[in-house]
Amino acid sequence: MISKELNTDFLNQLANILTQRISPVNSANSVNKLFKTHLNIDKTEFVIWDNNNMVLKNFVKDWEVYENNGLTGEINFIFNSLAMSNGEKFYFNEEEFSCDIKEDEQYRIIDLKSDENNIIFPLVSNGEVFGLLNISCKKNAFTKEFFTILNIASKLISGAITNYILNEQMEVSLNFYRAMKDIAKIIESQYELSYIIPLIGEMIDRFMSNHLIYMFVYKDNKYSLVWPKACMEENVYKLLKKIKKAENEYILSKNHKIGVFPLTNDENIIGAIAAYSNTDKLLQKDIDYLVQLTRQSGLTIHRANVYAEVLKYATLDALTGLNNRRQFEIRLKQEVANSKRNNISLCCIMTDVDYFKKVNDTYGHAAGDCVLKKIAEVIMHEIREYDIACRYGGEEFFIILPQTKLQEAAAVAKRLRKVIEETQIDITEADETEKRYIKVTASLGVCAFDDETMTSDIFVQKADKALYEAKKTGRNRVIVA
Ligand code: GH3
Ligand code: MG
Ligand code: MG
Repeated sequence: MISKELNTDFLNQLANILTQRISPVNSANSVNKLFKTHLNIDKTEFVIWDNNNMVLKNFVKDWEVYENNGLTGEINFIFNSLAMSNGEKFYFNEEEFSCDIKEDEQYRIIDLKSDENNIIFPLVSNGEVFGLLNISCKKNAFTKEFFTILNIASKLISGAITNYILNEQMEVSLNFYRAMKDIAKIIESQYELSYIIPLIGEMIDRFMSNHLIYMFVYKDNKYSLVWPKACMEENVYKLLKKIKKAENEYILSKNHKIGVFPLTNDENIIGAIAAYSNTDKLLQKDIDYLVQLTRQSGLTIHRANVYAEVLKYATLDALTGLNNRRQFEIRLKQEVANSKRNNISLCCIMTDVDYFKKVNDTYGHAAGDCVLKKIAEVIMHEIREYDIACRYGGEEFFIILPQTKLQEAAAVAKRLRKVIEETQIDITEADETEKRYIKVTASLGVCAFDDETMTSDIFVQKADKALYEAKKTGRNRVIVA
C-alpha cells in the first residue's frame, strides 16, 4: 500500500529532478533511482518515437533503436496500439488496461502478476503519444494507487521530455538564423571571394553537426574545391557531375548521406556546397536548412562579385582606406622604373599580422576587421608622406619606400613592429556589449631594390622571403634581406 504522504513526497522529488538543468542521462539516472526507492521498480527505460527516421529509440542512448522485428518488435506493436488509444491506456505484461483502472481490470492484473513484470505507460504531448515509459519490476503490490502514481509520473516525464526536445529544436533554429545573418553580414566589409568563401564554409560547417561541408566553385566546366583544404570523397565529385546547368536543384546520393547544393547567381551555376557523412542521412529538415543557407551564400557571393566589378576602378581598399592591391601593382612598377631611371634607392616592407586567424576565431571577424583598420592607421602614422602603403592581401600590408636606404627602411620596420606590439586595439565596435581591447603583433620583411636586373615581381618575392623568415624564426620580428 502506498500512502498519501509517500505519493506527494515522491511526486515532489520527481518534479525536482525533471526541472533541474541536467543532461538527459543524469535525469534518467535520478528518475531510475527514485523509482527504485519509492516504488520498488528495478528499471525504467525512456523510449521515444523518432519521426525523422520512423523508429522507436532510447531517449538517453539515441543510437539504440527498437527494430520493428525480432525481440523488440513487441514494443513497436504496443506503441502503435497505445498511440491509437490517445494515451489513455497502458500495458501490463502484454495486456492493455485503462489508465484509470476499473475494478474488473484490477482482478485481471492480480492474475497476470509474475516474478518479472513489464509495465508500459505512454508518453503524451498535446494528446499524441510520442514515446513510452518501459518499466521492469519484480514482485509488487500493483494496487490501483500504484498505477495512478505511475500515470501521473508519466505525465510529468512527458512534459519534461517535450520541453527538452523543443529547447533543442529552438537552439537549432536559433543557430540557423545566426548563420543566415552572419552570411548576409559578411559583405558589409568584405568583397574578396578568397576570404568570403572560407568564412561561409566555416559558418555552415559549424551549423551542420553531423555532416562535413565542402565548398566548390564552378569554372571552365569543372568544380574546384575552395574550402576546406582537401576533399577525398570521390562520391562527392561524382554527385557534383550530376548537377545539370538548367535546373538548380540539389542532389542526394542514393543512401541520402551525401548532398550537393548548387550555388547560383542570375541563373548561372557559380559553385556548389556539398554535405557529407558516412554515418548520418541528411534529414528533410537538414536539406531545408542547407537549401536556404546555399541560397543566402549565393546571394552574398553574387553581391561580392558585383562589388568587385565596381571596385575594379577603385584605387583604395574599402576596409582600411590604404591603396588596394591593383593600385599597389601600378605604383610599384612606377617606383621601380623611377629608381632604375634615376638611380635612386628604393626599399619595401612587407608585413603580415601574426596568428590573425586566432583573432577571428576568438573574437569574430568583425573584431578582426577592427584590427586591420587599426594596423592601417598605425602604418599611415609611422611612414613619411611620400611612402606608399597598400593592403596587399587579407592581413598583409606592403609599404613602398622611395628614396630610402636599406638601414632607414629597417628602422621604419623596427619602429612599426614596436608600435603595433604596444597598440591597444579597440574592438568594442565588433563586440558590442562591453569596452574591449586586444593586442596583436606583426612580422616584417624588409629589402632593397639594389640590382638593376631585378623586376618588380622579384622585388616583392625578396620581401616575401624575408617576411617568411621572420615568421619561421618566431614572429613579432623584423628580418632585413
Ligand atoms: P601567421 O602568424 O602564420 O601569419 O598566422 P595567421 O593566422 O595570421 O595566418 P593565415 O595567413 O593563415 O591567416 C590569415 C587569416 O586572415 C585568414 C583569414 O580568415 C583572415 N582574413 C583575411 N582577410 C581578412 C579580412 O579582411 N578580415 C578579417 N577579419 N580577416 C581576414
Ligand atoms: Mg597571411
Ligand atoms: Mg598572418
